[in-house]
Amino acid sequence: MPDESANKPRPADERRGLILVNTGDGKGKTTAALGTALRAVGYGQKVLVIQFIKGTWHYGELDAVARIPEITLVRAGKGFYKIIDDKFTEAEHREAAAAGLAFARESIAKNEHSLVILDEINVAVSLGLLDLADVIGLLDLKPPHMSLILTGRNAHPDVIARADTVTEMREIKHAFKQGILAKRGIDF
Ligand code: ATP
Ligand code: MG
Repeated sequence: MPDESANKPRPADERRGLILVNTGDGKGKTTAALGTALRAVGYGQKVLVIQFIKGTWHYGELDAVARIPEITLVRAGKGFYKIIDDKFTEAEHREAAAAGLAFARESIAKNEHSLVILDEINVAVSLGLLDLADVIGLLDLKPPHMSLILTGRNAHPDVIARADTVTEMREIKHAFKQGILAKRGIDF
């Protein structure tokens, strides 16, 4: 007899946090993570957002979260890496990513948040700014009740293997391809 109990829905274990990955080339990875943050805040949960890569551009969420005391947002990046307006050296990008990783390690170990969002961390790994082993090490550190969301294109298969929920945003259309530049309140 096949064991059907394995596929039966189980009641959510309120004590077990999840690992989620938002990846793919379509729009919505970071904003979906921020939507989840909003949902968690509705239950009075504390949320930490650590942004890798990003760091020089302004995003609306920076000011929005300042109005939500349950959410802390920390920027650990130097902006786009080797494209667009990158004025930083590779070493500076690496240092910023390493500082972000160290901060993530410390914060996860302190266990003061229900949800920690590691924004663009998948990109930092795929660009070689962070070691995959270090990111897997963060997942190993996760206290049982904490949930983690890792965002960014090109999520590594080993990260995907460790996650409970993985969503791939697939681009069907993007305004940018019609020559419409990034829009305030929608894209940043
Ligand atoms: P968002 O922050 O809007 O949720 P994202 O996190 O899925 O987007 P990233 O790859 O992190 O996407 O992209 C960062 C920026 O590029 C955002 O301003 C986003 O709106 C924009 N963007 C996302 N997907 C695309 C795309 N397929 N083509 C062009 N620009 C995009
Ligand atoms: Mg993003």
